[in-house]
Parts: sequence; structure tokens; C-alpha cells
Amino acid sequence: MPPFKVIIVGGGPAGLITGHCLAKAGIDFEVLESRDKHDLNAGASNALWPHSVRVFDQLGLLEEATKIHSPVDYRQSIAPDGTPFYKSDVFKQTRELHGHSFMLFHRAELLDLLDRRLPDRASRVHNNKKVTAIETHEHGVKVVCADGSAFEGSMVIGADGANSTVRRLMEETSAQPPKKEAMKTTYVGLYGSCPRLPDFEDGIFYETHGPKYSIQLGVGNTRGYFVIYHRLDQPTTARHKFSEEEKAALAAEYADRFTTPEHRFKDIWDIALWSHMAHIEEGLTEKWYGERIVLVGDNVHKMMPNAGFGFNNAVISAAVLTNGLRRLVLEKGDSADISTEELTKVFAEYERIRKPDAKKFVDVSAAYARSVAWDNLLFRVVDRYIGPYIRMDILLLKGLMSPLVRQGLVLDFLDEKDFREGSVKWKNPRQTATKVREAEDGNGKKSDEQSA
Ligand SMILES: Cc1cc2nc3c(=O)[nH]c(=O)nc-3n(C[C@H](O)[C@H](O)[C@H](O)COP(=O)(O)OP(=O)(O)OC[C@H]3O[C@@H](n4cnc5c(N)ncnc54)[C@H](O)[C@@H]3O)c2cc1C
Repeated sequence: MPPFKVIIVGGGPAGLITGHCLAKAGIDFEVLESRDKHDLNAGASNALWPHSVRVFDQLGLLEEATKIHSPVDYRQSIAPDGTPFYKSDVFKQTRELHGHSFMLFHRAELLDLLDRRLPDRASRVHNNKKVTAIETHEHGVKVVCADGSAFEGSMVIGADGANSTVRRLMEETSAQPPKKEAMKTTYVGLYGSCPRLPDFEDGIFYETHGPKYSIQLGVGNTRGYFVIYHRLDQPTTARHKFSEEEKAALAAEYADRFTTPEHRFKDIWDIALWSHMAHIEEGLTEKWYGERIVLVGDNVHKMMPNAGFGFNNAVISAAVLTNGLRRLVLEKGDSADISTEELTKVFAEYERIRKPDAKKFVDVSAAYARSVAWDNLLFRVVDRYIGPYIRMDILLLKGLMSPLVRQGLVLDFLDEKDFREGSVKWKNPRQTATKVREAEDGNGKKSDEQSA
């Protein structure tokens, strides 16, 4: 048998972080990405929460990530008339609770880091490969691309985003296709970046709260990262690609709304370096795997980005799936004919561990997005007038978000060089070389130290 090999479809954040995890696990893989090279100007921000920072540390990516991130300590909430009404040290508190910082990145730079640092990147990542078909057979898979090329492997990891082709292909051949569309859009996002203006405050995330909308502007070292979250009149499950005219129309609608206490949106928009408008789907798909196919990232768990949890969920999913695959490959041997049933067991366990947690992140993100976008009168009164006095965001951080972050799973076979813990103890303690060896005694069975 040829050695066990994974074909990852999608070279976005989820696909690349999965590649890093597999590389450390000693599992061979190739990545098929439909786009050409990454555009280093593209995207808004992407932040890592402390539990994902642990995985970055395990993967040897933390040092460089630290160099390119922008520190954030505060969130400044702004009323629609530009009045700053609440400054919270929520990100500072996150560091105190969990040891690692909430790290803000330009999405393009984070993606570039994942791409450049992928072991054997040149031979493993294939750009301009749009996957159109997957053939599954008893011993493996054949993945076919739009240009007619094909790649053979033992299994597929679909990491091709919310409008996933792999998910569609998987569901089309499933004996029990899902009964309804899992992802629904209530908000559209207009997002991008602009040069950092001299009067943007250091280490701050501005957030305008208004009726049926919110605007965020994260201040990075050299850029500002903006997002308008605009509520649709009616939620939809339809897909839509916005035209330049539609984008310009939404920007014009928001031109006079405050984005910082000193700047209206038009001040940011007029100097934007890059922008994009898209549906922000929310939801959790029913089935995360099929025959020799498993899904990771936005294609199974898509959430409002306000709290910055989307990619973080992909990081943890990549770690959990890799732990399972590595144990199977260690047990069976790299060149064994690993059966569809054996893979299915690993995929089912991955879904069992991750799905309930991902659902909580989807729900928390939805609630946060709706409360700052004053979805109803109660949200408005609580958010604008009561929240600042009781420091509601800190209560939410400590009561809802931190307990989820604390549970974040890590790779169960790698140590953390820069292990950190804050006032809240990690549910899954540090992996040390000794624990890893112990865990591998007895056919690579999972250590009791790391439980889901
Ligand atoms: C404005 C905004 C801000 C955000 N901020 C944060 C944040 O602070 N923190 C956070 O954790 N998350 C954040 N997110 C969410 C985060 O960006 C996503 O969760 C993340 O990008 C998901 O990665 P993915 O790889 O699953 O999907 P995608 O980013 O959609 O990548 C999918 C990749 O697959 C490729 N592809 C698609 N179809 C095919 C095919 N048929 N064949 C081959 N390749 C294919 C695509 O070209 C793409 O490269 C934010 C999102 C937005 C919109």
C-alpha cells in the first residue's frame, strides 16, 4: 500500500492550519487551493484567542506570530451619534484570565505566515486547483480538479469554506442527505482595511452600536481593520455575490455613521486599501463527515465574526482531528490499508468532541452580534444604559466566553514551549515530553490527561 496520505481541499486558514498539524504528526498531505497566490493586501483582521495561541505555540508558529500581531487591550463602545459610552479593558482581562493574549492580525499576514511556514510548502500546496469531484473507493480517494488534474490519497479533508464544494459532494452521495440548509444569513458584512490614522488610539477596538447595525474598527500597527455588520430585512439561505455597485451603495448608506468618536465611515472608506462585501452565514452543519471525507472550518461551523471565534474554532478542530488520525496511523502503521470503517470511527469521534463546543461558539457569537446591533429594544436598553454600569461585557467574558476558551483542546503529542496560564486553569493541561511518551505507551492510546 502507498503511505497514508491526506488530500486537503482549500488552502485558506483552516486548510493550512490542518496542514501544520498533520506535518507535526508525521502524516503526509497535499493541499489543493482554487486561488492563485495569496493577496497580501486582502482581508480585514483575524484575531487569535488564547486557546488557539497554545496550538500555534505547539506548532512552532508563536514566535513569528508574536512579531506580526498588533496588541489590543481595550474596546471602546460608541453610540450612533459618536459619543463614546464605554471603554472596557476586556482584552487585558482575557490575558489575565488565560495567560496568552488576544492577538490581532491582518488576515493576509496571518495567512501568509501559515503558508510560508508550512513544511515542504512548495511540493505540497497546489494553487489554481479548483476541486470539482471526489471519487471514493475501498482503499482511498481520487480528487479531480476543474483543469482535469487528479490527486490520489487515503482520505479528504474539506476545508473549502462556508460555500463548500466538498460538503455538497459529500451530501449528494450521502444515504441520508440533510433535511434543510444549515447556514442562514441575517447580516451582511462590508469589511476591509485602511491605513492607520494618527489619531487612532493604540491597542483599541472601536465598536459602534446602533439599531440593526454595528461597526468595528480594530487598530493595528499599520492599518485599521473595519467591518460593518448590516442586518437584512429578512434572513435568507440564498447565496449572493455582491457587485461593486451594491458595495458602494452600502458604503454610501453608512457614510455619515461614526466609526471612531472622531471619524465617520466615509473618512475610512475614502482611504480604504481593500474591501469586500459578503453574506455572513451562521450555522452548524448536521454531518461533519462521510466516506473517507471529513470537514474542518467554516464549512461546518460558521459564526458572526464580532467576537472573533471563527478561525479559532478551525484551529481546535484541526488539532482534535489530527490527534485522532495520528493515533490511528500509529496503531495501524503508515503503509497499512486503513479501512473506511476505521477512518469513520475517527471522524465520528472528532465530530462528537467538537460539535457541541462549536455550537456554543456559534450561539455566543450570535448573541453578542445581536446585542451590539440592538436587535430589539431590550438589547438596546441593556447594552447602552445598563451594560456599562455593571460591566456586562466582562461578566459575559468570565461567565460565557472564558469557560469555552478554557476547554480548548490542544495537540496531544506536542509540548508548549511558551506555556502560559492565567487565573483560570486550562481544562487540558500542558503536554510535556514525558506525558506524550506515556500517552503513546500501549499502541498510541490516548492519554487520560487529555479529555474532551
Ligand atoms: C470580517 C471578518 C472578520 C473575522 N475575524 C475573525 C477573527 O478575528 N478571529 C477568527 O477566529 N475568525 C474571524 N473571522 C472568521 C474567519 O475568517 C473564518 O472562520 C476563516 O476564514 C475560515 O477559514 P476556512 O479556511 O474554513 O474558510 P475560508 O477562509 O473561506 O477558506 C476556504 C479556502 O478554500 C478555497 N476553496 C474554496 N472552494 C474550493 C474548491 N472547490 N477547490 C479548492 N479550493 C477551494 C478558497 O479559495 C479559500 O482559500 C472573520 C471573518 C470575517 C468575514
